[in-house]
Amino acid sequence: MEKKVALVTGATRGIGKQIAITLAKEGYDIAINFRKENEDLVNTKKEIENIGSKCLTVQGDVSSFEDTEKFVKEIIEKWGQIDILVNNAGITRDGLLMRMKKEDFEDVLDTNLVGTFNVTRNVIGYMSKARQGRIINISSVVGVSGNAGQTNYSASKAGIIGFTKSLAKEMASRNILVNAVAPGFIETSMTDVLKDDQKEAISKMIPLKRMGKPEDVANVVKFLASNDSSYITGQVINIDGGMLM
Ligand code: NAP
Repeated sequence: MEKKVALVTGATRGIGKQIAITLAKEGYDIAINFRKENEDLVNTKKEIENIGSKCLTVQGDVSSFEDTEKFVKEIIEKWGQIDILVNNAGITRDGLLMRMKKEDFEDVLDTNLVGTFNVTRNVIGYMSKARQGRIINISSVVGVSGNAGQTNYSASKAGIIGFTKSLAKEMASRNILVNAVAPGFIETSMTDVLKDDQKEAISKMIPLKRMGKPEDVANVVKFLASNDSSYITGQVINIDGGMLM
C-alpha cells in the first residue's frame, strides 16, 4: 500500500489506542494527539512503532479550536496529508439532569461534539484538496437510545450522528466518506467505573451476553477506512452485541 496517514484523536488508551494500532497494522502511519505527556502516550507510540509504522504525537486539546488548528497544521507540515480522520476523543460527566452542573453539560459537549467539529473543520480543507478522505466519528448507542444520567453525553453523541450525516452529504462529491460507529458498553477506563454487579447486569441484557472489547470497535473502523467500504457514507453502525436492535 502507498503510505497513508491516519489521525486518531484520544488514542492514549482504550478504543482510540486500539484503533490506532489496528490501522498501523493495516500499514497507515499514525498521528495521535495528547493533552499531557504521560506513560499511556509513550506506550501507544511504542506499540505503533513496533508494528513498523511511524507515529507522530501532537499536543492539543480537541475542545480548543486553536489547539486543533495547530496540531493539524503540524501533521500536514511533517507528513503532507491526512487520509483518515477518526474523531474518538470523548469524556463522560454522568449525573441526573436535576443535579447536573452547567460545566458538566458544557465540558461533555465541548469535548465530544465541538471537539469533533474542531478537528474536522481543520482537516476537511486538506481532504477536499486531495479529493479523497474518510472521516469516522465515534458516537454511542446512547446517542440513539438516550440513557438516564447521561443527558449531556447522549446529546453530544446524538449531535455527532447529525453532524456525520450532514457532512456526508456535503462532502460526497469530493469523494470524502463520512460515517459513524455507535459502540455499546466497551471494556475501557470509561466503563471501569462501573461496579462488577453493574457490569454483570449489563452483560445479561446484551443478546451476545458480554461487554464489547476495543477490538470489536477498531475492526469496524478498519473496514470503514478501507476500500471495501467505498460505497458507504452517512451511516451509523451499532457495535453493541445486539443491545439496540
Ligand atoms: P477512555 O478510555 O476514557 O479514553 C478517552 C481518550 O480520549 C483518552 O485518550 C483521552 O486522553 C482522550 N481525551 C479526552 N478528552 C480529550 C480532549 N479534550 N482532548 C484530547 N483528548 C481527549 O475512553 P474510551 O472508552 O476509549 O472512549 C473512546 C470513545 O468511544 C469516546 O468518544 C467515547 O465516548 C466512545 N464510546 C465509548 C464507549 C465505552 O463503553 N467505552 C461506548 C460508546 C462510545 P487523555 O489521556 O488526555 O485523558
